[in-house]
Amino acid sequence: MLLDRELATSSHVLAVILRSFARGRIGVPARGMGALPQAVAAPLPAGSIALRTPVTRVTPGRVRTEAGEITCRAVVVAADPPAAATLLPTLDRVRMHAYTTYYHRTETAPLDEPILLLDGDRRELVANTVVLSHAAPTYAPAGQHLVATSVVGPQPPPERVIRGELARLYGRSTADWTHLTTVEVPDALPAAPPPQSRLRKPVALGDGLFVAGDHRDSPSIQGALASGWRTAGAVLDELRG
Ligand SMILES: Cc1cc2nc3c(=O)[nH]c(=O)nc-3n(C[C@H](O)[C@H](O)[C@H](O)COP(=O)(O)OP(=O)(O)OC[C@H]3O[C@@H](n4cnc5c(N)ncnc54)[C@H](O)[C@@H]3O)c2cc1C
Repeated sequence: MLLDRELATSSHVLAVILRSFARGRIGVPARGMGALPQAVAAPLPAGSIALRTPVTRVTPGRVRTEAGEITCRAVVVAADPPAAATLLPTLDRVRMHAYTTYYHRTETAPLDEPILLLDGDRRELVANTVVLSHAAPTYAPAGQHLVATSVVGPQPPPERVIRGELARLYGRSTADWTHLTTVEVPDALPAAPPPQSRLRKPVALGDGLFVAGDHRDSPSIQGALASGWRTAGAVLDELRG
């Protein structure tokens, strides 16, 4: 969950995330993770978002992009931590955890429920594996199943090693499974080592510059959403003067 094999994450962060698990339900959107940003963007007026337009420089009241410059009263940098620290050099550089997910197709599901299976033998290779199409049937065609298996850390093992681990974990042969793809995300989640007694890091940097993202709250989607909400409030306060 924290992508942290060393268990070096602050206990404050762990408590916040466990509280979210206890209060909410775990799931994935039926139309894929892209449905989440689409839902956030849906109420905005048409043409107000420029996609595939990397920002190259940010200064008070100005945003330079590969497609030209924008002038504005407030700038919110909501990029991932390494990109945010490049655009706003006063921010601390945050260490990032790497995560890799292997996707397999099988006609016979190795489990009947959408259970996130952990490795009780603690061989420290597979972090977790799940028949994802049991949680979201839209993720596989009828009669087929999608298994997603994740590994924490850089230098993920070859797929054949993971396939062997899966046979052990599920207690059945995986020889007839089809490997669909492996997705490596080197900068998947910001590390959150102690001290984190001040979980909520400042989002208003002065001069109309703001920063939002999971690295300003807890390393998770809800942390990103909470920080976005907090940043929006800070921008409104400043614009209203
Ligand atoms: C494989 C994986 C599984 C995960 N699973 C979970 C989970 O189950 N639950 C959970 O809570 N969290 C999960 N996370 C973590 C979660 O995805 C992040 O915490 C969350 O996406 C952070 O949101 P954010 O808005 O802060 O940043 P991001 O989602 O990283 O968004 C930043 C955006 O900024 C853009 N950007 C960067 N640089 C520039 C630039 N120069 N110009 C313009 N745009 C730029 C990027 O393209 C990106 O779209 C997972 C992460 C990964 C990688």
